[in-house]
Amino acid sequence: MASETAEVVAGRDFIRDIIDADIAARRTTEVVTRFPPEPNGYLHIGHAKAIWINFGVAQEYGGRCHLRFDDTNPTKEEQEYIDAIKRDIHWLGFDWGRHLYYASDYFDQLYDWAEHLIRSGKAYVDDLPADEMRVMRGSLTEPGCNSPYRDRTVAENLDLFHRMRDGEFPNGARVLRARIDMAAGNMNLRDPVLYRILHAAHPRTGTKWCIYPTYDFAHGQSDAIEGVTHSLCSLEFEDHRPLYDWLIDNLPVPSRPRQYEFARLNLGYTVLSKRVLTQLVRHGHVTGWDDPRMPTLAGLRRRGVPAAAIQDFVRRAGIARANSVVDIAMLDHSIRDVLNKTAPRRMAVLRPLKLRIDNYPSGSGEELVAVNNPEDATAGTRRIRFGRELYIERDDFMEAPPKKFYRLAPGREVRLRYAYFVTCREVVKNAVGEVVELICTYDPATRGGNAADGRKVQATLHWVGAADAISAEIRLYNLLFDRAEPDTGSDLIAELNAMSLVTLTESRVEPALGAATLGEPVQFERQGYFCLDPLSGPNRLIFNRTVGLRDSWTKARATDDQGVEKI
Ligand code: ATP
Ligand code: MG
Repeated sequence: MASETAEVVAGRDFIRDIIDADIAARRTTEVVTRFPPEPNGYLHIGHAKAIWINFGVAQEYGGRCHLRFDDTNPTKEEQEYIDAIKRDIHWLGFDWGRHLYYASDYFDQLYDWAEHLIRSGKAYVDDLPADEMRVMRGSLTEPGCNSPYRDRTVAENLDLFHRMRDGEFPNGARVLRARIDMAAGNMNLRDPVLYRILHAAHPRTGTKWCIYPTYDFAHGQSDAIEGVTHSLCSLEFEDHRPLYDWLIDNLPVPSRPRQYEFARLNLGYTVLSKRVLTQLVRHGHVTGWDDPRMPTLAGLRRRGVPAAAIQDFVRRAGIARANSVVDIAMLDHSIRDVLNKTAPRRMAVLRPLKLRIDNYPSGSGEELVAVNNPEDATAGTRRIRFGRELYIERDDFMEAPPKKFYRLAPGREVRLRYAYFVTCREVVKNAVGEVVELICTYDPATRGGNAADGRKVQATLHWVGAADAISAEIRLYNLLFDRAEPDTGSDLIAELNAMSLVTLTESRVEPALGAATLGEPVQFERQGYFCLDPLSGPNRLIFNRTVGLRDSWTKARATDDQGVEKI
């Protein structure tokens, strides 16, 4: 298809340039990539970028992408995360087929290769305590110095390494280090740790091991075992690449993978650090990994964000070599773009105010016709019931309206969507002076929402019938953090937006919404896109706001609760 070709051409980037060159020079015949999550948390929208790049590139070149769990630290990893990661990748629209792997599958091989390094004089067992080792590594400006254990004999090293494996020593007593160069400009080459002692049961290998390889020792070798050709990762691994290459060059690995780095996705007002996200969950600042305020894929899904919108967003954010922060409004834009075409329109009143039409006959009212989606003619129409008593949005009325407020006010005429023109005649208040009801009249000659005499009104309001509306709880989500670049170092709680969740329990929605199903987006007219929350039940409707209709967040964040500015 022409449009697809255009997409691909528009999507050129430095990674595709590298692959093109490799293919042209016959260095690569089949493109093999991998996505290597550590199962110590849920995937977030930053991971979606890495997934989209690795799976997307493989797909485009007719190759394959492996899903490999980087499960080298049994103290932090859980089955729950493995299951969630698989679910989220599938939901995003990618599939690893039969190429599901675990770094732990390679523990035997990695162990043999560690011995290989020892035998060739390129690794040694070090007894230095961790803090001394840290000091002796030097700094960016100072070279490190050699450990007193660096010149142990091969036989002594082999013996100690075996005894580490056999569980003779406690955690932290010894490590296996590569023997490279303590004066190297790149700190990662200053005799990096390859194996550490960890007396912990592993979800997959049980108690077979009490020493575990580090990320650096496991990663490149796993790539080589699987025949990965292009190991695409984020920029923080750039400084690890010389070590990646050193290990590949010094081990009898079956293939020669290459690592390339791209810039991580950073988003304004959003934290994409698993450490911080874990903290938010553990300390109860959110209800879980799938809290709709979380930037996790599970959270975004629950908020109603379609997978297609996330794909569109990461594609627009693009692949670059330089770090930058992407405006969160760009994500909202992608979400609206997808939902606008697909979401049926419905009427829901978030903060109801009673409206009585004095001159409308009492009784069961009448049926009117409403359009399901003006963007999609095939979506058809539905019937809605109009009557003498209705609810309108509290924010759509002001007793003393300022200049630019065009909605309902005493003596003013407005249109009720799909129905009639009504004029506000009287304001009823309670004992403390709050407006509790509006008494109006309607013009029967405006049925369907147009006046026979051609007269105009300045506003069209949505409404629901008091007789048949359904009660619902509506959850409005706002940014979880107050500042564009939250400081997550010290006081995380102080950075949180107190208004990140506004729960409305008095909302009324039109009867058609009683049939809403999970995963189906809807647009509440004039309000935004919403979806049913999984906690809904037969007698309890809960809707989550996915996104508002316009870029109202910057100007209306503080007033979101009133919504007065959003005309
Ligand atoms: P940590 O290493 O702190 O646990 P992480 O987010 O890097 O967190 P991993 O499970 O190691 O978690 O990530 C898997 C892959 O996802 C890595 O290869 C990493 O490059 C990529 N990735 C993680 N965060 C982002 C991001 N914000 N943008 C792009 N890619 C990312
Ligand atoms: Mg990582």
